[in-house]
Parts: sequence; structure tokens; C-alpha cells
Amino acid sequence: MYRAPRGTSDILPEEQNYWSYVKQKAADICRLYGYERIDIPAFEDAGLFTRSVGEGTDIVEKEMYTFEDRGGNRLALIPEGTASICRAYTEHGMHNLSQPVKLYYISAFFRYDRPQAGRYRQYHQFGFEAIGSDDPALDAEVIDMVWQFYGSLGLKKLSLGLNSIGCPACRPGYLSALKEHYAGYAGELCPDCKVRLEKNPMRLLDCKQPSCQTAADSAPRSADYLCADCEEHFARLKRYLSLLGIPFKVNHRMVRGLDYYTRTVFEVEPEEESGQSSLGGGGRYDGLIEGLGGRPTPGVGFAAGIERIIFNLKNQNIAVPPLERPQVFIAYIGDEAREEAIKLAARLRQNGIGVVQAVGSRSLKAQLRQANTLGVRHTVIIGDEEIKTGTVILRDMTTAQQETVPFDGLERLLK
Ligand code: AMP
Repeated sequence: MYRAPRGTSDILPEEQNYWSYVKQKAADICRLYGYERIDIPAFEDAGLFTRSVGEGTDIVEKEMYTFEDRGGNRLALIPEGTASICRAYTEHGMHNLSQPVKLYYISAFFRYDRPQAGRYRQYHQFGFEAIGSDDPALDAEVIDMVWQFYGSLGLKKLSLGLNSIGCPACRPGYLSALKEHYAGYAGELCPDCKVRLEKNPMRLLDCKQPSCQTAADSAPRSADYLCADCEEHFARLKRYLSLLGIPFKVNHRMVRGLDYYTRTVFEVEPEEESGQSSLGGGGRYDGLIEGLGGRPTPGVGFAAGIERIIFNLKNQNIAVPPLERPQVFIAYIGDEAREEAIKLAARLRQNGIGVVQAVGSRSLKAQLRQANTLGVRHTVIIGDEEIKTGTVILRDMTTAQQETVPFDGLERLLK
């Protein structure tokens, strides 16, 4: 027997109300803040991610699904959304639109991660991007939107970490300070961090290995190395967030795992350990579009993992509304009644009434049992007597009360 590939899962009907709830809340918040939906392809030129997410990052180096297609093109299943959105922004000349351009997406993403709770090889993100302005008020608006989104889902006990990792003007100074600091700990670092020290020293800060903690705790802080512009940007962002009453905490060790970030980075986590860590994260990427060959264009955005949101909704016992299902079941006794049932089911559906019609030739008792399992409000029963008199029996499934009503005009009665 075949099984779904490791790290992927089927989203079964009984889970769909959670998915529909999260997607609806996502669409609602985007409407409130003026974001429009965009859908991106499931694969892109692999170079798009090498050039933006970065050569030395885990995503590109270890987790990307790359393949050559039959035409010899080197492609990758999309591991994240921001690079694609920036590609689309340039490709479709969106710099001609009123700035900032605000876009959101809901899509499947692919990473060859080690599957475990909250970590899959195919997973889903809701994300949004505001492209075309470097105003810290936009960073604050994005973070506010993130906070309101989680609030609208009903999630509680979340923490919001914030940091600034500077820009190409001040980053090199910070990186040399980091390297100098870590050189003193070279013997104690985990094997991954020894490599990172050369390729991507900021990633040493968020390493979870105990052997790397002492060095990370005492490491220099990016916020202390910002140039005047970045410092002013960070100060204004913090002021605006305070105006908005957003309870952020500056976390000097938060750097995020993608190379394209500049200045603002932030992440939302459940306070409880059991919450499967990062619920979502984002930041500013002022050099990304230019790095991909577009005009210099700043941007800021965010992405949330939908599986982790759903895990936390369940973990926090948040009730999610059920999906709408047919409320009428049609049962029949005998072949002639079956023909009436077929006609009636079609007529009710044409009038916008959801119907499940019995099939086969089960006893009435078995048909009513099925109606009960489906949770319909009413069952319509048709037998020989009803055909003769042009009526049907209408059974209220909660009270078990039955009445005989005319076949004609049943749709009005049910409505
Ligand atoms: P990132 O692009 O790595 O910042 O990821 C954004 C969000 O997507 C994370 O905060 C997680 O909620 C979610 N996420 C990332 N990778 C995975 C994965 N492999 N499986 C499930 N969710 C993920």
C-alpha cells in the first residue's frame, strides 16, 4: 500500500473547519489593512532562492527541493513566499502602482526538514508583504496586523520578540565583532556553528545546542552596532508599537534564518513550551528586490505557519465553528418512491437546499440511522402511501416528531 510521503499529510474533512476558520480570519484581517490576494507558482527558478534567502542558509543548503525538469531548467519547490512575491512585484511592474503595494498569500511550501511535531516537509503559510516604503510606521502597522490577527483567532499567551539587525552599512562592523567574540569559544561550538562562524555568523545566536549557549548569552548585540539611520528607524518603530499598545520584547538573539532581512526582525511564539515554537515571523528586506535585479525597493512582511496555528487552537481549546452541511436527508421505501426521491432531491438542491439522498435499498430504520449520523435537521420520508396522496412525511430529527405535508411546495416549508 502507498502512504503519503514522510512529512506530508492529508487534510481530512474533520479538520477542514479549522483550515477554513484560519483562512477566513486571514482574509478578514487583510481586508481591514488593505492587502490584496496574490497566488504564486508552486515552483520557481532555484536561483531565486539562492540569491535572496541566501546560499549559506539552512533553507537553501539543506532543505530545498531542487530538481531539473525535462527541459533542463533548475527549479525548486517554493520553500517560502517573500522571494516569489518580490519576483512578481518586479515582473508585473508593480512599482508603477501606488506604494506601498500590499499583497497576501496562502500557499503550500516545501522544506526537506526532519519531520516532527510542528515541522513538516509540505506545510502551509499565510503571509503578507508591504512593498515600496521604508517608513518604520509601516513596520509597526505590519506588526500590529500580526498581533490583531492572532488575537482575532482567539489565541492567548503569545509573546512577540523584536530586534534590529542593521543594514549593509552597519552589519559588517557587527559581524566582525561577533566573529571576534566567537573566536574565543571556537572549541566549544557545535559542528554546525563551526561552519556558521565562517558562512553566517549571526545564525550562531539562535543555535539551540547547549554547548553554544554560553557564547551566545555574552555575544555582542546587533542593536549596539546600528548606524544612525538604523538606530533612528528602530527607535521610531518601538515608539509606534508602544503607541499601539503592542507588548513587544526586544530579543537580542533573534536574527531569523534568511539572509534577506535588514533592520526589523520579529517573531511570535506561544509562551508555553508545548506550543511547537515559532508561530510566525517576519521583518524588513530593503535590499531584496534590488538583489534580484529589480529597482531598489524596500519592503516588510510576515508569514505564519497554518499547521502550528491550528495546533495551538486545539491546545488552547478554542472552539471553531462547524462547516455548513446539508440539513435534509431523503429516505424512501420501494422503487417507485426512489424515483420520487431522486426528483425531490434535485428540486430542493435547485432551490439552494443541501440534501443527502439515501442510496441502495436499506430498511427505513437503517436510513434514519444514517440521517442521524449525518446530523441533519430534517428527514423527508417517501413511501407508497405518500405517492398516492401527493405528500411526504417530514421528520424533525431532534424531537423525532413527524408530520405529513404536501409534496408540492416542500422547499418553501424547509426554507
Ligand atoms: P520561516 O519562513 O522559517 O520564518 O517560517 C515562517 C513560519 O512558518 C514559522 O514561524 C512556522 O510557523 C512555519 N514553518 C516553517 N517551517 C515549517 C515546517 N517545516 N513545518 C511547519 N511549519 C513551518
